[in-house]
Amino acid sequence: MVRRIGPGSLVIATHNAGKLKEIGDLLAPHGVNCISAGSLGLPEPAETGTTFAQNALIKARAAAEASGIVALADDSGLSVAALDGRPGVYTADWAERQWFEGNPGRDWYMAMGKVEGMLAAKGPDAERGAWFNCVLAIAWPDGEHVVYEGRVDGHIIWPPRGDLGFGYDPVFVAEGHERTFAELDPEHKHAISHRADAFAKLKAEQFAA
Ligand code: IMP
Repeated sequence: MVRRIGPGSLVIATHNAGKLKEIGDLLAPHGVNCISAGSLGLPEPAETGTTFAQNALIKARAAAEASGIVALADDSGLSVAALDGRPGVYTADWAERQWFEGNPGRDWYMAMGKVEGMLAAKGPDAERGAWFNCVLAIAWPDGEHVVYEGRVDGHIIWPPRGDLGFGYDPVFVAEGHERTFAELDPEHKHAISHRADAFAKLKAEQFAA
């Protein structure tokens, strides 16, 4: 029997207000009161893992240990089959300007262009399959943990299309769809995304009657 969060407080190991609200809204109907790691003044640990699960666990464990309260963290990213799964855990890093230009800030068009440039270098017949992963990790202060993995498969298109969403959404078309994630209504994207898949698994196990 898997350990459950149950009603009560849950620390969300993020300093991102948007993520806190999204997760808080999803868990509120289950009597879970979400508190952000940022509002508790918890430090952000370095994401030194080589998998999404390792990084999600690093964040959840650090928050649970520092707060003494059960914690939830997520880690996500894009993997491209022909690039051996890159950018993977480095998805956000590929948008860091200072890696390439020496200036701070993120440039998503630069990141999407880097993916396209590497695919184009493989020739016109390059395999364009790709997927988004989302891993949710729950850690208790005593060290116990549970992980839920979500995924959506699709392919990379070029040039980018659409102005909704964020990150790599303008170049990702999910399997069975024509429009990119950035051309889909948010409700539609949220119904089929890697994050939706991971949360569905979490809810099924954590809050089933
Ligand atoms: P993190 O999980 O907050 O570290 O985010 C990793 C990166 O993956 C984000 O900065 C986005 O660039 C990318 N990413 C994760 N989910 C999505 C998505 O749904 N659409 C587009 N990009 C995403």
